[in-house]
Amino acid sequence: MQRIPYMKLFLYNSLSRKKEEFKPIKPGEVGLYTCGPTVYNYAHIGNLRTYIFEDILRRVLVYNRYAVKHVMNITDVGHLTGDRDMGEDKMEKGAAREGKSAWDIADFYTRAFKKDIAHLNILEPDIWVKATDTIPEQIELVKTLEEKGFTYGTGDGIYFDTSKFKGYNKLSHQDLEALQEGARVERNPEKRNPTDFALWKFSPEGSKRQMEWDSPWGIGFPGWHLECSAMSMKFLGDQLDIHCGGTDHIDVHHTNEIAQSEAATGKPFFNFWMHGAFLIIQGGKKMAKSEGNFLTLENTFLKNDINPLAYRFAAFLTHYRKPMEYSNEGIEAARNGLLHLQNQVRQVGAAGVDGGHSINTEFRNKFMEAINDDLNMPRALAVIQEMLKSNIRDTEKRTAILDFDRVLGLGLEQLDKVSALPEAVQKLVDARIKAREAKDFAASDELRAEIETLGYQVQDTKDGMQVVKK
Ligand SMILES: [Zn+2]
Repeated sequence: MQRIPYMKLFLYNSLSRKKEEFKPIKPGEVGLYTCGPTVYNYAHIGNLRTYIFEDILRRVLVYNRYAVKHVMNITDVGHLTGDRDMGEDKMEKGAAREGKSAWDIADFYTRAFKKDIAHLNILEPDIWVKATDTIPEQIELVKTLEEKGFTYGTGDGIYFDTSKFKGYNKLSHQDLEALQEGARVERNPEKRNPTDFALWKFSPEGSKRQMEWDSPWGIGFPGWHLECSAMSMKFLGDQLDIHCGGTDHIDVHHTNEIAQSEAATGKPFFNFWMHGAFLIIQGGKKMAKSEGNFLTLENTFLKNDINPLAYRFAAFLTHYRKPMEYSNEGIEAARNGLLHLQNQVRQVGAAGVDGGHSINTEFRNKFMEAINDDLNMPRALAVIQEMLKSNIRDTEKRTAILDFDRVLGLGLEQLDKVSALPEAVQKLVDARIKAREAKDFAASDELRAEIETLGYQVQDTKDGMQVVKK
């Protein structure tokens, strides 16, 4: 592979609320932690948008020649339905809904999640870790916090006293006094401050939970925030470079992770915090399981025979920090955009390979400037179109697009291998081109139907007919 020249990488840091030049703690290496799914149900496509953004981040880091160590957790215990330690455990709720054990639910939806990300060409992390596999580390962390005087007990658990941690709002930038005001609606009167959160919750008296462990404070289960602190420190050690999640994690989950980790170690917990914006359903509704507009990859793409990579492509069209509108028309446009790009790649691929090309410097620099400007994918796509329509040779275009696909992750290299259509399909395609030239649209429609029964999809665009495998 060709060496890419050094170029500064700028990323938006939610801590400073500015784009900053990214510099890792250890030269050349990056520790990346991305908050993973709570496996009590399918991921909805709004969740998946965040994982696409994180995948782009990781690929851009690799494109910039960093060795990335990526850790993702699987939340299989402790995540309650209410954000502030209220409500039911989502896992036990899922188990009751489906009449299975919480462990079976976790296993089933973990596998479903892995299938989803595979459909979207999202790279798997180097390390997957389940919350239930790091209970001892989480208990140790609570012990440290207890020794340092940051905890107190209530009737239902061990809590973190947020008033003892200076800079509690450094990530959320929330007005803490206003939050104190909100204390009047707080339903747990034993909490000293409304922002205090559970580190360890006791199993309810007289009942046995499916998931519970012994601890120095009594039988129970860890708080949701605790797992991400314990796991990131366990697997990334001192390489706490970038921590990611959705914007909904800022105010509570990530804020609490920072408070308990920094209180325990006395050291900064992650230098960069990056957050992906929401997916908005047409009409302005936030995509959420609780809103009843629960769209999954299965019920929106796979069931309708739409290539899930069209969703990946759609995610490139909106910058990751801007809310993305979801509509059927938007997905149709993204699907056509992807088909168009695939066709362009086939066309330059048909020119053959003459080998030994270096990547066109002008376009590589433009592409890299776009991705290194806080992962500006809309601009990167514009650079790609400019390159494909330029006067450089087709073989050079092919070399460049396949290099850029290391970031896009659209599997464009695979197209070369399948670009030749089966003979039967090619015959129908040739006949349909003639029919269209003769303006015999009835014949053209019939031929389209025949092609589709053979498992191919036909699109008529201003650049001509595109035929791709369904
Ligand atoms: Zn997390």
